[in-house]
Amino acid sequence: MSRGNNHVIMVQPVPDLSTMAVLPVEQNGDHPKPLSPYEQQLHLLEHDPRLSKEILLGKRIRFYNIKGTIGTGNFSKVRLGVHILTKEKVAIKILDKSKMDARTRKLLSQEILCMERLDHPNIIRLYEVIDSLPKMHIILEYAPGGELFECISKDGPYSEDNARPIFAQVISAVQHMHKNGVIHRDLKAENVLFAQDGTVKVGDFGFSTLSHAHELLNTFCGSPPYAAPELFQDKQYVGTKVDIWALGILLYFMLVGKMPFIGDTIPVLQKCILKGQYHIPSQLSTNVQTLIRGMLTQKPSDRYTMDDIVNSAWMGCAVIGCNDSGLGSSESTLREGVEMLQDQLQQTLTKLGVPFDDLTALQEDTPRDCAAGTYRIVLHQLQRKKAEQTTVACNSPSSQHRSSGSTEGRRTITSKLCIIL
Ligand code: ATP
Ligand code: MG
Repeated sequence: MSRGNNHVIMVQPVPDLSTMAVLPVEQNGDHPKPLSPYEQQLHLLEHDPRLSKEILLGKRIRFYNIKGTIGTGNFSKVRLGVHILTKEKVAIKILDKSKMDARTRKLLSQEILCMERLDHPNIIRLYEVIDSLPKMHIILEYAPGGELFECISKDGPYSEDNARPIFAQVISAVQHMHKNGVIHRDLKAENVLFAQDGTVKVGDFGFSTLSHAHELLNTFCGSPPYAAPELFQDKQYVGTKVDIWALGILLYFMLVGKMPFIGDTIPVLQKCILKGQYHIPSQLSTNVQTLIRGMLTQKPSDRYTMDDIVNSAWMGCAVIGCNDSGLGSSESTLREGVEMLQDQLQQTLTKLGVPFDDLTALQEDTPRDCAAGTYRIVLHQLQRKKAEQTTVACNSPSSQHRSSGSTEGRRTITSKLCIIL
């Protein structure tokens, strides 16, 4: 299978396809064969000096025009990008390789490995990885609705009824991770992003790792206010239990608008977490209080399991009712329903001139080239279109019916602060 360029070419950005003339190529000197849009882009990347300049200026990377900044993390800058062939908006997580040491490089490769293993509508999709000399670009599905954290900070906590469908989606995503041996290790409201129609997507696998059930991990990483007590106490911990504790903190934050454990410094916060004393407002229902206490149980072996959460009275049928596709999400997964879309996929890819002999091979390949990246984006566009046509849109809990409350006292130790020890 011919797959176009598989490495970074020092070239430049491309004019809008609609205004671009077809570049002729001489075939045996006689009949020029027009290039497909895909081939045109590859041709321009190799030969257009304007594109090389744009790439040097950080305004372009391969098939993506790079626009404004949409997020800044401890380790990366996230920029909005537009895929030149499909016009799809993407999030481009850019990491400066020169600032990375062996440990951060390992975390990055784990981030990619974990994302490649996952396929769930409530998890940000990975479209492509572009490794250029100075920088690493991770091309991701774009969630335009912002962070759950910002939403709560701005509008206050959720009512229980509005929190439930959001939390259920996060639970569905984490269930999928754990089933696939992925531990997130940085679950927090900043890493839960809103897509459309109240759908949320868990992102930022920067601290994630692969782990077998009951395997003991020993790297402390994550955000202190979300850190489980055993992370401060023990040399080793069970990954799934640490994620479940963080889910308890997340649910508390969603309903109360502040953190259960607060401290001005990490030692104070640590003391607070180890003491395990926190206040649950009495206006919260008994069912949700039981669930929060189950997740925030000090001893990992006594802490709620994912099944306990799913089967809890408060969750009701919110998660049980959803399959792997997650509640509130009408989208399918990357590998789901591809056969049904096969004809449309082939048509679109043929129109764009993306080379493929076998769609399955294109789908399963590590997305490190333009063809695989384009394939994933086209597939996602078709899946979204199909979902829009066939399902009733969810209401948008991010914008409706908030309970009153404030975010007072939040983040004395900021959860943006991440630690790796
Ligand atoms: P941190 O360590 O602070 O969590 P990070 O370097 O690991 O950050 P991310 O959390 O992945 O980076 O991204 C930083 C921010 O960029 C997110 O909190 C979010 O606001 C924004 N962002 C990241 N990915 C996306 C996306 N796919 N769609 C929209 N916004 C995004
Ligand atoms: Mg983050």
